[in-house]
Amino acid sequence: MAGTKACKNCKYIVENLKECPACGEKEFTEKFNGQIYVLDINSEIAQKIGARLQGNYAVRVKR
Ligand SMILES: [Zn+2]
Repeated sequence: MAGTKACKNCKYIVENLKECPACGEKEFTEKFNGQIYVLDINSEIAQKIGARLQGNYAVRVKR
């Protein structure tokens, strides 16, 4: 998928954005593995990955 990339800081996945809507980070990578969709930011999985915004998160990103 063109334009799909993950935030290097919080792993939030965006499409064609210059700034991460979750943490404000401006560096992204297209090299990431897996995706987790966080629906409830208060859920256990969201807490575990530090999700602060509903959406897709990468499981692992290359730094
Ligand atoms: Zn981020």
